Amino acid sequence: MSTATLKVATEADTQVEDLTDGFHLVIEALKLNGVDTIYGVPGIPITDLGRMAQAAGMRVISFRHEQNAGNAAAIAGFLTKKPGICLTVSAPGFLNGLTALANATTNCFPMILISGSSEREIVDLQQGDYEEMDQLAIAKPLCKAAFRVLHAADIGIGVARAIRAAVSGRPGGVYLDLPAKLFAQVMNAEAGAKSLVKVIDPAPAQIPDPAAVKRALEVLKSAKRPLIILGKGAAYAQADEAIRGFVEKTGVPFLPMSMAKGLLPDTHPQCAGAARSTVLKEADVVMLVGARLNWLLSHGKGKTWGEPGSKRFIQIDIEPKEMDSNVEIVAPVVGDIGSCIAALAAGLGHDGPSAPADWVATVRAKREENVAKMAPKLMKNTAPMDFHGALGALRTIIKERPDAILVNEGANTLDLARGVIDMYQPRKRLDVGTWGVMGIGMGFAVAAAIETGKPVLAVEGDSAFGFSGMEIETICRYNLPVCVVVFNNNGIYRGTDVNPTGGSDVATTVFVKDARYDKMMEAFGGVGVQATTPDELARAVNAAMDSGKPTLVNAVIDPAAGSESGRIGNLNPQSVLRKK
Ligand code: ADP
Ligand code: MG
Repeated sequence: MSTATLKVATEADTQVEDLTDGFHLVIEALKLNGVDTIYGVPGIPITDLGRMAQAAGMRVISFRHEQNAGNAAAIAGFLTKKPGICLTVSAPGFLNGLTALANATTNCFPMILISGSSEREIVDLQQGDYEEMDQLAIAKPLCKAAFRVLHAADIGIGVARAIRAAVSGRPGGVYLDLPAKLFAQVMNAEAGAKSLVKVIDPAPAQIPDPAAVKRALEVLKSAKRPLIILGKGAAYAQADEAIRGFVEKTGVPFLPMSMAKGLLPDTHPQCAGAARSTVLKEADVVMLVGARLNWLLSHGKGKTWGEPGSKRFIQIDIEPKEMDSNVEIVAPVVGDIGSCIAALAAGLGHDGPSAPADWVATVRAKREENVAKMAPKLMKNTAPMDFHGALGALRTIIKERPDAILVNEGANTLDLARGVIDMYQPRKRLDVGTWGVMGIGMGFAVAAAIETGKPVLAVEGDSAFGFSGMEIETICRYNLPVCVVVFNNNGIYRGTDVNPTGGSDVATTVFVKDARYDKMMEAFGGVGVQATTPDELARAVNAAMDSGKPTLVNAVIDPAAGSESGRIGNLNPQSVLRKK
């Protein structure tokens, strides 16, 4: 604590006491627990906390808006299995960060939102403080746990509780409320140092019950048409080799959810990604590995899943309450994915692959048929581009640079890129996740570059980009190897809608025609490129990836190319009474 002390003469002026304060204790508590990066936006009352954290050797990345800093922290948590830290000011800054905190919790990403807050005495009497808000109460329902620290001596415990809550069991978002007064509180330095807590084994292994493992294997072995679905929980677990070994040993076709793409390569012979509808409809046993039967999997029922009652589900998840949340799970296996997969693999013994050969052949044939169907669409070299032509170019780039990280959001831009761009390595695809939310783009891109040092390709719908677009200044400021490609079709879904009244306002889903997003990047010293054909797009992205320079490519897409709400138009109610 030598850097954190202040010598103060006592009354008698005979002894000198070493003091520390809240600022130093927060920083020391984080550092003691291996936190080396903070994402945030400076301001009252945490400006000095950021400065002092930087002075203490931490990386402090300042954003233009808290939601983007929060998204950065959340995805840092997903990539590293350590809680990502987002630091904000009180009331409005806190609320801006809260969207990201709630999104992190929904996606099971470990994150801690640390916000400064106003004085308790004034807030609780509602006497009208600067940025007065009962932040703890507001955060509680939107995260896994929420804590407030009132005394400097409790900072160590507060930070420890936040870390353990974020990463143990099912990971999620945690709120830590630090009132302004806390930072300036002083205490004896030695007592302060002793009050800090190093969290031992923050995410303990959770070993599955051997009976549950045996049950699961019996169900899997009895299947005629087995399917393994890998979710982002499996990607998060960082049990890559064990998962790959298990999947290959069984020979069972696997389907990756979008952020689990690359856990095994999309080009793996067992990958059923291109035969999705067939395997969901026809499988008789489905093993879910860190994937939830939520809306993204049609809740495990309905037309997508074929004949009612035709499936039996095995589910591996760390969260016991997840079982039976939508349909009956005949073989729940509760534990962490690394431990569960290890136990299942051990139980398989030395038998060869258990997947029936005719089923494996059916899936492979369907997949090859669909891949062949898509191939010509990806080679169209037209101007303006359509989605497939542009994505075909990007698909080749990721194939040639499999360690690059792909960030992806939008409607059509998201749905089509997910299918077209094959991934080859784990945790390389970061996207809109469980909520299908827009606005994650630049926050995810910044953190992906900071946490991994790898080149980042952010493929963004023009509308999606707008939610975090100002952060291209952040990308330029930290000189990050991020290439943003804006799929510019002049609007939301499409750029062709017209105002039905014939009035001078444009239609609600339309943006400025032929906007030049590339010029925004140039304004901050980055490279801006306009691309009108897939060849131009490929050239620009390759140059960006080679140079590592912040780049934005304005990819001109046919305004008529998109469809309403991308592939989830069914979720967007439309009035039958609307005048066309
Ligand atoms: P996807 O959207 O890819 O299907 P979900 O976010 O729906 O993925 O599901 C992820 C699941 O993984 C959650 O139910 C979560 O509890 C679980 N999970 C997260 N980390 C682990 C882990 N280390 N071990 C086991 N399960 C995990
Ligand atoms: Mg658009």
